[in-house]
Amino acid sequence: MRLSKTHVPTLKEAPAEAEIPSHILMVRGGYLRKVAAGVYSFLPLGWRVIQKISRIIREEMTRAGAQEVFLPAVIPGELWQESGRWDVYGEQLLRFKDRKGADFVIGPTHEEAIVDLVRGDVRSYRQLPLNLFQIQTKFRDELRARAGLMRGREFIMKDAYSFHATDEDAQREYQFMYDTYTRIFNRCGLAFRAVEADTGAIGGSLSHEFQVLAETGEDALLACDSCGYAANVEQAKARPPAAAAPSAAALEKVATPGKRTVEEVTAFLGLRPENLVKTLLHLADGKPVAVLVRGDHNLNEIKLKRELGARDLVLASDESVEDATGAPVGFAGPVGLGTPIYCDLEVCAMPSCVCGANVADAHYKNVVCKRDFQPTVCGDFRDAAVGDACPRCESGHLVGYRGIEVGQVFFLGTKYSVPMKCNFLDADGKEKPMIMGCYGIGVTRVAAAAIEQNHDKDGIVWPVAIAPYEAALLSLQVGDPQVTEVAERLYAELGKAGIEVLYDERDERPGVKFKDADLIGLPYRIAVGKKGVAEGVVELKARRSPEVHKVKIEEVVRVVREKVVAERAGGGA
Ligand code: ATP
Ligand code: MG
Repeated sequence: MRLSKTHVPTLKEAPAEAEIPSHILMVRGGYLRKVAAGVYSFLPLGWRVIQKISRIIREEMTRAGAQEVFLPAVIPGELWQESGRWDVYGEQLLRFKDRKGADFVIGPTHEEAIVDLVRGDVRSYRQLPLNLFQIQTKFRDELRARAGLMRGREFIMKDAYSFHATDEDAQREYQFMYDTYTRIFNRCGLAFRAVEADTGAIGGSLSHEFQVLAETGEDALLACDSCGYAANVEQAKARPPAAAAPSAAALEKVATPGKRTVEEVTAFLGLRPENLVKTLLHLADGKPVAVLVRGDHNLNEIKLKRELGARDLVLASDESVEDATGAPVGFAGPVGLGTPIYCDLEVCAMPSCVCGANVADAHYKNVVCKRDFQPTVCGDFRDAAVGDACPRCESGHLVGYRGIEVGQVFFLGTKYSVPMKCNFLDADGKEKPMIMGCYGIGVTRVAAAAIEQNHDKDGIVWPVAIAPYEAALLSLQVGDPQVTEVAERLYAELGKAGIEVLYDERDERPGVKFKDADLIGLPYRIAVGKKGVAEGVVELKARRSPEVHKVKIEEVVRVVREKVVAERAGGGA
């Protein structure tokens, strides 16, 4: 494609609101334009990237035996009422009424719609298994949609749903989809890792996220330095502690005037944070509960919420804390407390601890779990942390890194098929609910994640497999007949060799062309200049490396072709 005939409006400056590299570079590089918060139009280059990612996904899903369908974005609200998610999905769900007053949603995900489709036509075990996928627009009314394609409100997702007669068959498909996702992200040329994950608003009992590794990633991940264990911190566990023998020392109240925070109390009493226990009051569906975690640990609300089976969990207001404990904020403790007490395993294992005394300006020392207070549940309620012992192997410890979630696979079981009566007749003549899995990829987020992982100060550095074009051809002096003759010839020959080329034949200075080429970030750049042409050479440069090579004009197409073909299958340069 000739650049003068392509709509690539590059910009010197990014809009002030763009904060992360992928957003800045896609706007500056002429890939993307904002329409509203979290809603974007794709320009020709941007849309080519999305098409390339989609093609890889489509090929691999089809190879895996899934069949492509296309469901509407608009879904009747009654299906969401049937599944029970109408009430629990919250404000991310965009709802509206049609002219007759009927409720509709714009699908943020399509479990309800697909279950409705399948239950209408699938009756017998003979029609199972079935795996249907689509590549389609979703809408989630995200609170903070500021990160370009990374977290849009409208975005494109590949979503697949599988239906099975048995648990074993659904497990087999889960593993198969896991392997398919591994192929897809490898083919996209991304460095990624699959990690154990929470099932969130989708639900189900088993889940992995595919995380593109990048410093700018939103997700904190933990992985064992010795075995293969890896998990999102939302889900990660540490090896449970060995219980220490409880202390025999008697409970003792000490004055801690005005000392409320972990830092203040530990400094005042000369303790380490791991000797102190924080008592965090929450309202679970409006009812107060107390959670105990060690002073140096973070509460994991997802784990707590799961244990409580609560729909809504919020930190209690100062007022509610005073109501529940009888003391001002900063002095809560489990001794004599009337609320249920959820005690982290690490707290249960301490010989004794220091915690608030439920009166102003006082704490208790020598508090022993199950002697001085009775926990309602001892469980894992904290974030695992860097340096914790691995929960899976004997010798490893957890290390931290950051990632961008580009895909997630879920084992759903009968979470949707039971409430929505998605049943089939089994070989034994009995009616049973179908066992389901679902598998999502954020197509537009893959593009953003690829840039977060592959860019430098000058622009994008696309992996070949998802670059909008594979090579940039720059004519450095368009007024020079010899330069133009060589550039035109190379343009035709590269095209014939099956290389996707963006040919910069604009009447611009070489400096402008080099800058734009770096910004747009195509994997290979061939520059045709007057001096080189006189010597019979052109300059070839990989975007990824600083080296510039002089290559004979008659050899450059073959050289570029060999490099591009080798990298098309993924794996990067
Ligand atoms: P997140 O935790 O990032 O909000 P999620 O876990 O809610 O995402 P899923 O329901 O698992 O998302 O959706 C499947 C995939 O869709 C995700 O793995 C992600 O790649 C993509 N995705 C989800 N929300 C967005 C969004 N707001 N913008 C772009 N892509 C998204
Ligand atoms: Mg997810």
